[in-house]
Amino acid sequence: DERTLVLVKPDGVQRGLVGEVISRIERKGLRLVALELKDVERSVAEQHYAEHAERPFFGELIEFITSGKVAAMVVEGPRAIAAFRQIAGGTDPVEKATPGSLRGDLALETGSNIVHGSDSPESAEREIKLWFG
Ligand code: ATP
Repeated sequence: DERTLVLVKPDGVQRGLVGEVISRIERKGLRLVALELKDVERSVAEQHYAEHAERPFFGELIEFITSGKVAAMVVEGPRAIAAFRQIAGGTDPVEKATPGSLRGDLALETGSNIVHGSDSPESAEREIKLWFG
């Protein structure tokens, strides 16, 4: 089985959607193996989004992810990385995420799209170390 790092971002935590996210993960058949509500240090945020460091929205992205608590979790199961990205939906909640996905059902803006999920085994390994040590 595979592991992936899932974050409920500050917008999702503030809107009370942690339970909804966990519920969809569990109903899909994936398992929760770690869960912690965390304040996000700037250095962790910058390392997490290092691949976007040169993008014009990087500053906003760091401000946003450090603006409140996140629910960080390690999720496990067969093809967990792709399975969670299916549950999350595409990055743009209107143009890309389909109805039935978390973003498709519950979000409007790319900058506040509720959840993060690792995009590859290499990212998952790096991100799980970063968030859970
Ligand atoms: P995540 O990494 O959060 O799971 P993703 O893999 O779907 O999202 P990425 O392309 O890796 O999408 O972008 C990471 C995050 O950066 C997005 O989830 C979104 O919050 C933010 N982001 C991406 N593109 C933009 C943009 N054009 N404007 C504002 N924010 C953006």
